[in-house]
Amino acid sequence: MIAATAFAGRKLALFGLGGSGIATAHALLAGGAEPVAWDDNRDRVFEAQAAGIPVADLRTIDWGDMAALVLAPGVPLTHPRPHWTVDLARAGGVEIIGDVELFVRQRRIDAPDCPFIAITGTNGKSTTTALIAHILEEAGRDTQLGGNIGTAVMTLEPPKAGRFFVVECSSYQIDLAPSINPSAGILLNLSPDHLDRHGTMQHYADVKERLVAGSDVAIVGTDDQWCTLIADRLERAGTRVVRISKRNVLADGYYAQGPQIFAAAGGTSQPVADLGTIATLRGAHNAQNAAAAIAACLAVGLNENEITAGLASFAGLQHRMQPVARRGRVLFVNDSKATNADAAGPALSSFDRIYWIAGGLAKEGGLHSLSGWFEHIAKAYLIGEAAPAFAATLGDTVRYEITGTLDRAVSHAADDAAKDDHGEPVVLLSPACASFDQYKNFEVRGNAFVAQVAALPDVTMLVDHQEA
Ligand code: ADP
Repeated sequence: MIAATAFAGRKLALFGLGGSGIATAHALLAGGAEPVAWDDNRDRVFEAQAAGIPVADLRTIDWGDMAALVLAPGVPLTHPRPHWTVDLARAGGVEIIGDVELFVRQRRIDAPDCPFIAITGTNGKSTTTALIAHILEEAGRDTQLGGNIGTAVMTLEPPKAGRFFVVECSSYQIDLAPSINPSAGILLNLSPDHLDRHGTMQHYADVKERLVAGSDVAIVGTDDQWCTLIADRLERAGTRVVRISKRNVLADGYYAQGPQIFAAAGGTSQPVADLGTIATLRGAHNAQNAAAAIAACLAVGLNENEITAGLASFAGLQHRMQPVARRGRVLFVNDSKATNADAAGPALSSFDRIYWIAGGLAKEGGLHSLSGWFEHIAKAYLIGEAAPAFAATLGDTVRYEITGTLDRAVSHAADDAAKDDHGEPVVLLSPACASFDQYKNFEVRGNAFVAQVAALPDVTMLVDHQEA
């Protein structure tokens, strides 16, 4: 755990007692601060109290005494409307921060030069974060991985010279980290998402920009207009910008042409990595993630050999286009994390003969945005509530059956794929839907898929399905 000493001897209000809130409270207590914590959910307040955290209804405290309000990232700062604690803090002139801000202040106190890579973007954050941490670990670096990817940042080992921090940041976390200053900051891409919490695309982009604006080296994906404008603006302001692209040749930066990644400087370029044989980094989206990882690892001092070795041994993240099994020529891929149509696009674009298991709880827009990839689908197996609507969209263009449940879909898709004698047939779970009609969450759905694949005869598992 990191002891947050920046507020030693001072009082703070803390709101939001989920996992990261509890960790933040312990970090503050360990650093000698005096937090008082609260949550709108009474059970969480009792749990915190039982864990030794001082609690008080923040409506009743004297805000004049508070050095800061530490807010959990899930609590609205601006939209749809500021949480009541935000109103009280603002009225009292109290600064509002989150756990990532506590981390960056502690890094400045303990080890301001220890390498800190922060990653944000609309899509690909977790993959890029995990990939960078993997490359660093394989290269023998002391590596800490956390943030939005699932490990609260204040539960990591403390900053010290030579220790590398790789931290995934959601836009909410950046919004609560006014002084974030990574050694290398990555902004992968921007497209509309979470606008319920950010109001407008402009505000969402402004928040994301802050992560790279504070970086020693700003690594920016320039495949969308929002990020291109940000890269231009940072460069004009004198920040060192490294551009990456998953499709366009760049004069300076790192770009992909198919699975090849090139490094360009002053108009000349040379190949730095070939992702063609790395099953876990298939697809143009992963070329963007890998190019960003390469740029970041070079920026913090790794050499090209260390980076290519790490890329080659990356196991991928569970539930994200994860190759899980083979049966003869048939590959089974778990992309359960694709909980909306846009997120299913990368998987559909990455394979040619797809036996596609889709459906669940549909989100707005249905499957229409995926129609460009329909020719890759040999047959679709539709499950869950969305099945009839998806069937209507596929119509006469794509062969499909309404299969209802995942176990029947796995069995039918595996049988059909086994009879396919073209290329590499792929049985793909990429539902383009939330899971809640049939499963607790996308992880449980993905695990069910892997377990059902493991139960097929003559299958060779590529993952340990006990842990999958
Ligand atoms: P995040 O953490 O930003 O949600 P993940 O790395 O968990 O992103 O990837 C989630 C899904 O998003 C993947 O299964 C893939 O379909 C898609 N994806 C991953 N990287 C990218 C990218 N660079 N651009 C667009 N989509 C991506």
